[in-house]
Amino acid sequence: MMRYAMRGTVWVIVYLLFILAPLFALLLGTWPAPRDFWTEVSVALGYAGLAMMGLQFGLTARFRYVTDPWGEDVIYHFHRQISLIAVGLVIAHPLILFVVRPELLALLNSITAPWRARFAALSTYSLIALVVTALWRAKWNIRYETWHLSHIVLAVLAVAAGLLHMVGWSFYLTDPWKQVLWIGLTIFWIGLLVYVRIVKPLFMLRRPYRVSDVREERGDTWTLVMRPDGHPGFRFSPGQFGWLTVWGSPFTITGHPFSFSSSAAVADGRVEMTIRNLGDFTSAIHKVPVGRRVYLDGPYGAFTIDRNPADMHVLIAGGVGITPMVSIIRTLADRGDPRPVILLYGSKDWESITFREELEALKARLDLTVVHVLVHPPADWTGEQGFINAEVFKRYLPPPYAAHEYFICGPDVMMDAIETALSELDVPLSKYHSERYSFV
Ligand SMILES: Cc1cc2nc3c(=O)[nH]c(=O)nc-3n(C[C@H](O)[C@H](O)[C@H](O)COP(=O)(O)OP(=O)(O)OC[C@H]3O[C@@H](n4cnc5c(N)ncnc54)[C@H](O)[C@@H]3O)c2cc1C
Repeated sequence: MMRYAMRGTVWVIVYLLFILAPLFALLLGTWPAPRDFWTEVSVALGYAGLAMMGLQFGLTARFRYVTDPWGEDVIYHFHRQISLIAVGLVIAHPLILFVVRPELLALLNSITAPWRARFAALSTYSLIALVVTALWRAKWNIRYETWHLSHIVLAVLAVAAGLLHMVGWSFYLTDPWKQVLWIGLTIFWIGLLVYVRIVKPLFMLRRPYRVSDVREERGDTWTLVMRPDGHPGFRFSPGQFGWLTVWGSPFTITGHPFSFSSSAAVADGRVEMTIRNLGDFTSAIHKVPVGRRVYLDGPYGAFTIDRNPADMHVLIAGGVGITPMVSIIRTLADRGDPRPVILLYGSKDWESITFREELEALKARLDLTVVHVLVHPPADWTGEQGFINAEVFKRYLPPPYAAHEYFICGPDVMMDAIETALSELDVPLSKYHSERYSFV
C-alpha cells in the first residue's frame, strides 16, 4: 500500500510540473513590454488550459505504471473533471480579453480575422464540442464507437489549433529556448498519441490470444475462454480487468473492458471473461468461433484483494458484477486461503443467477457463505428478497463492520445504495472498494 501511495504522490507532482512549469518558464529570460494586468491573467489561463488539454492524452493512455496507484476508473473520472477546468480556463482566456479590450471582438469574424485568431476559434469550438458530447453522450444516444472516434478527432483538433494559435501570437515565445520548450511539449503529446494508437497495438498484435471455448452461463451471459498464442500471457490479480478486441485488429479503437472471471492462480496464461448481453458488441459474443484470434490489453485496475489484506472478504455483487467476485473466489480456493468469504449476490430471479451451481460447489473448497438476494423470488423462497441494504449486512456480517474489506460491483444505483449503507455502518472509505462498469 505504501508503495502505491508513494508512486501516486510522485505522479501528482509530475502532473503539476507538466502543467505549471511551462507557465513559470515563460517568466524567465527576456520579457516583452508589459501589458495590463487582466490581459496577462487571461494569457496565463490560456497557457495553463492548453497544457492541461495536452496532458489529457496521457491520462487515458493506460500506462499501467501510472494508473496503478488509483485504478483506471479514478483516472477516467479525473480526466473528465479536469477537462471541465481546462475548458473553463481556455474559455476564460478570450472572454477576459473581450471585456478589457472590446475591439478584439472583431476577431470572432473568422472571415476577416488573421489565422492565429482562426486557430483560437477552432480550438475553442472543438473543445466545447468535445466536452458537450462527452457529457451528453448517453442522453443523446450517441453510439459509443462513433462518440469515441469523434472524441479523438476533436481532442487532436483542439490541441493542435491551440498550439498554432499560441505560436502564431508568439508574444511570450520570443526566446528560442521557449519555443523549443513548447515544441518539446508538443512532441511529447504527439508521442503519447503515437504510443496509444500505434506502439501499444503493435505490442498486442505480437501477443494474440485464441478462443478455446465459448461457454453459455445463466442470465443471458457467455464466458470466453482465451489462451495465449505463442507467448506466455500475463499474470493478473483477482478482480482486475482487461480490454478485449474480438472482431478487428488492435489498431481499431473499439476495445471493450471486461473483468477477468477466471482464477488468477492458473499458470498456463489462460484467461476467461464472462460477458452479459447488453448491447451490440456483447450480443455477438456467443457467435465468436472457437479458434478465433483475439487481442487483450491488460491487466488493469486497483479493484483487487491482493492489495488489501483482510481478516475476511465481503464481496457484494449485483448482476454481471459477479465476474470479478467469481475470479476472487476461484483464486482464493486455488490458493487454499483459509480466511472466510461472504458473497452477497443480488440477482433478478433464481434462474438467471450466473455461476449459481459453481458457487455452491466452491463452498466445499473454502470458507464461503453465499447469500442470494432476489428481486423476483420464486413462491417458495425463504431467503433474502429485494435489494442488498444495511439490514442484510447486519444479518450476515459479524461486527465490527469496519474490520472487514468490502468489494462492490454492480449497477450504479445498487453501488450508490451500498456505499451509503456502509458509511451508515461507520465503515471507513478506505475499507470499501468499488468497480463501476459505467466509468467509460
Ligand atoms: C472495468 C469494467 C469491467 C467490466 N466487466 C464486465 C464483465 O465482466 N462482464 C460484462 O458483461 N460487462 C462488463 N463491463 C461492461 C462492458 O464493458 C459493457 O457492457 C460493454 O462494453 C458494452 O458494449 P456493447 O457494445 O455491447 O453495448 P452498447 O449498448 O453499445 O453500450 C452500452 C454502454 O457500454 C459502454 N461501452 C460500449 N462500448 C464500449 C467500449 N468499447 N469501451 C468501453 N465502454 C463501452 C458505454 O458506456 C455504452 O453506453 C465492464 C466495464 C468496465 C468499465
